[in-house]
Amino acid sequence: MNNSSVQLNSNYHILVTGGAGFIGSNLCEALIKNGNKVTCLDNFATGKRENIATLMNNPKFNLIEGDIRNLADCQKACEGVDYILHQAALGSVPRSINDPITSNDVNVSGFLNMLVAARDAQIKRFVYAASSSTYGDSKSLPKVEDIIGKPLSPYAITKYVNELYADIFSKTYDLETIGLRYFNVFGRKQDPNGAYAAVIPKFVMQLMNHESPVINGDGSYSRDFTYIDNVIQMNLRAISTSNKEAVNTVYNVAYGERTDLKELVSLLKEYLSDFDAVIKQVEIKYGPKRQGDVPHSLASIDKAKNFLGYDPLYNIEAGLKEAVKWYWKNLK
Ligand code: NAD
Repeated sequence: MNNSSVQLNSNYHILVTGGAGFIGSNLCEALIKNGNKVTCLDNFATGKRENIATLMNNPKFNLIEGDIRNLADCQKACEGVDYILHQAALGSVPRSINDPITSNDVNVSGFLNMLVAARDAQIKRFVYAASSSTYGDSKSLPKVEDIIGKPLSPYAITKYVNELYADIFSKTYDLETIGLRYFNVFGRKQDPNGAYAAVIPKFVMQLMNHESPVINGDGSYSRDFTYIDNVIQMNLRAISTSNKEAVNTVYNVAYGERTDLKELVSLLKEYLSDFDAVIKQVEIKYGPKRQGDVPHSLASIDKAKNFLGYDPLYNIEAGLKEAVKWYWKNLK
């Protein structure tokens, strides 16, 4: 399947911040494949050199090792750039609970540096990774862009502040911005290791090693798990839209269905047992609920469909099959 289904002019120079991370490196690859020139700004806090290893010899790819907390690095990275896909941030709710100061420095001060650098370099459009965590304690389902609750973690605050700053920059300095509220993204290159690993790669690795995945809570919490190629599609659409009514706003980026954690593990076991039948017998364990977790998350994707023509090609089953194949081939 073509992961983008979007035609993007191939002569652009696009800056991907956090381009060595999970989502950023997938974006770099897709943009280069389309023929664009890409600059990647990353300090490798959580990103990996292997994520961009295949791009390093490509003359259209340029890596700047730098930190978004440093305005000069942001300014250097913006030189000659048409569009920005800003992905650099410290993800993870628990990380932000353990160290709110660093999360704020990177996610808020770093974001502001990037906005200032983008404004001064007269970038055509600043597209940034927002987050479904902005819905906070709002109980309404599905989540519609205009109805948010109170943030439930320092991370959620940082992502909400990003939206507020982007809005002010578009109104005050005429910088075009689009925020993409990602919902639990998964797929190739997502890091399965470390204390702050996301649930899908962590469970995949545990199952591949015949270890029991531990579900926090009773397994009834649900998420709108979103395959990486749907996210790539939205980023390309956000860059390429010429509809002036579609900019200076935020969009949900999701599939539009929710899956609870019990179901998720059973799908993973089913797909992984095609490679190793023993995985079907691995037991699931249950642990305490995690602080700051919202019980359910499900997006309305109507706004993205209406304004940007978003058409997600991968549901959770199709995405998980691809992801599992990739982990088996690359990390087993
Ligand atoms: P990731 O950790 O794989 O990627 C983040 C990248 O940013 C890494 O390469 C890291 O090294 C880089 N980075 C961190 N601090 C930096 C700094 N100070 N200067 C320069 N680079 C820095 O995470 P990801 O899952 O690819 O997330 C990308 C973006 O999407 C983040 O903004 C995250 O908040 C957002 N997001 C992700 C999800 C998800 O489900 N993965 C959901 C909602 C929002």
